[in-house]
Amino acid sequence: MTLKFVDEYRDPAAVLRAAEKVRRRASRPWRVMEVCGGQTHSILASGLDALLEGVVELLHGPGCPVCVTPLETLDRARALAERPDVTLASFGDMLRVPGSRGDLFGARARGADVRVVYSPLDALRLADRMPERHVVFLAVGFETTAPAVAGTLRHARERGAKNFSVLLAHVRVPPALIAIRAAPESRVDAFLAAGHVCTIMGTSEYEPIAHRYHIPIVATGFEPLDLVHGTGLAVEQLERGEARVEIQYSRSVRPEGNKDARALLKQVFRVVDRPWRGIGVVPRGGLALCDAYADFDAERRFPELAAEAPREPEACRAGDVLRGALRPPQCPSFGTQCTPEHPLGAPMVSDEGACAAYFRYRAADVPDRPEATP
Ligand code: SF4
Repeated sequence: MTLKFVDEYRDPAAVLRAAEKVRRRASRPWRVMEVCGGQTHSILASGLDALLEGVVELLHGPGCPVCVTPLETLDRARALAERPDVTLASFGDMLRVPGSRGDLFGARARGADVRVVYSPLDALRLADRMPERHVVFLAVGFETTAPAVAGTLRHARERGAKNFSVLLAHVRVPPALIAIRAAPESRVDAFLAAGHVCTIMGTSEYEPIAHRYHIPIVATGFEPLDLVHGTGLAVEQLERGEARVEIQYSRSVRPEGNKDARALLKQVFRVVDRPWRGIGVVPRGGLALCDAYADFDAERRFPELAAEAPREPEACRAGDVLRGALRPPQCPSFGTQCTPEHPLGAPMVSDEGACAAYFRYRAADVPDRPEATP
């Protein structure tokens, strides 16, 4: 393995050469889905989708944890934040995602104690500083951020923290790939699995998926050269009629993943069925707390918070976007009713959302907006 500086992974000449190789190898148009929203942004920023136009259609998958967090969870978070004894903490993006009754920043404007934190440990520190209040951390993310939450909970348990809990919405990526591939309308020929998730979890869980659904899965990085290489490996397999798990992001991913992080996850979490926004309930698609950590489960501490029936905004087609069935500019609200300043749905809010990526990098697709944001 040759390690390069990050600039080399962004070198336009190298990306052009690698894209040309893919163009020459593809004997027919293939559809390759990148799973992670960070990859989507990199593809649009570098113009990789345009470079491969006609030979590879890059479909954007559900890999934005903010976007797939169910509306019910956002509504529960808001109901918690509105309690006079609760401080709700989460990452900044989560506070801007509209729930049935508006976003958490709106709740803060009406007097709720809602805080932006940069890590779950920051939320635990907040609880230390405010013993008279109960601090709830709204925990979202894939397997990449779950170890930090697990470590924080272990720390909280060891110290006997009484005024801290988590509203958990962590999801697991491999089961979502099964749901996407198995859907009758599936258009996916190959997946680019998210390199950071594979860094933690390894690639073994993808083996039975590649085999059963006869689909190449390539663990791929995030720079333009990573993405064009990952796409090239997927196309090579498709052209040969193969369906294997391959690692493009070998400077970070090992087949066995990060053993310490996996062990930590096993101590704190158990695997459960979990709803993904836009996809529905995904069997084994999420994490819940093990019994030993039940005292830190905000939903058990505040059982009265059963969510009302959530109200999805009718004008938002986020579900179709998250399944790769619709490109953001095809949504009638894109760039008109829905903009980053006034988002209707999570994919326009999050830094990893596909709608935000198109708004930022595809100015021509944005109604009445001739210039892209640099
Ligand atoms: S553009 Fe806005 S309204 Fe349309 S799917 Fe995306 S987030 Fe929803």
